Amino acid sequence: MGNYFRNIYQAVRTILIGLGITLKYCFARTITVQYPDVAPVLQPRFRGFHYYEIEKCIACDQCARICPIDCIYIDKSAPRKLDKQSGLATGGVMVRYAIDYNKCLFCGLCIGVCPTKCIHMGDLHDLSGYSRAGMTVEFADLAERGLRAPEPLWMTKKRLPQWAQQRKEQWLKQGEGREEVMLQAVRGDGAEAREAEQTG
Ligand code: SF4
Ligand code: SF4
Repeated sequence: MGNYFRNIYQAVRTILIGLGITLKYCFARTITVQYPDVAPVLQPRFRGFHYYEIEKCIACDQCARICPIDCIYIDKSAPRKLDKQSGLATGGVMVRYAIDYNKCLFCGLCIGVCPTKCIHMGDLHDLSGYSRAGMTVEFADLAERGLRAPEPLWMTKKRLPQWAQQRKEQWLKQGEGREEVMLQAVRGDGAEAREAEQTG
C-alpha cells in the first residue's frame, strides 16, 4: 500500500517539476538573435555538417555500415590502407565519398567508428539547396578543390557580415597545405595507371 502512494507522489512530483520548468520559460525574457547579422552561438559539442580528411580515408565502409539510415555512399577504385609513417592512405583512389543530408540525423555514429579518425562533425550549422539532389554533398569533388566541408549558399554572397566573412576564411583554409595529398586521394599518383600498363 505504501508503495502505491509513493508512486502517486513520485508521478505528481515529476509532473510538477516539469511544469515548473515550462512556467519559468513562459516568463523569461525573450531574446531575438539577429541572425544572420549576428553570429549564432554554437555549443562546443555542436554537431554540424561533416568535415572530411580524404587523404586519411581507407574506404573501409565502417561509417557507412553503422549509419542508421544508410546515407553515406563510398566508392573506391581498389583497396586502400593507411601508411603509418606518412599518416596517409595509399592504394586505390576515392572515387566517391558522399553524404545525403536530406537523411542525415547528425547522430555522430560514423565519427566514432572511423579507424583513421578522418571524418568529423564540423561546425557549419547551415546548408541549404535549391533541390533535394543539391543536399547530397560529394566530398571527393570538394577535395579536388582543396575543400573539406560543404559550402553553404551564404558563402557565395559577395557582402557578408564580419563574423560570416571570418568563418568563410576558416572554411577556405581547412585544407590549406594539404591540397596535393587531397588531390592524390581522388586522382591517384599514377601508380595504378603504371601498374595497368605493365600488366596490360
Ligand atoms: S551523423 Fe549519423 S546519420 Fe549522419 S552520416 Fe553519420 S551515422 Fe549517418
Ligand atoms: S571515413 Fe573512416 S570509417 Fe568511413 S570509410 Fe573512411 S576510413 Fe572508413
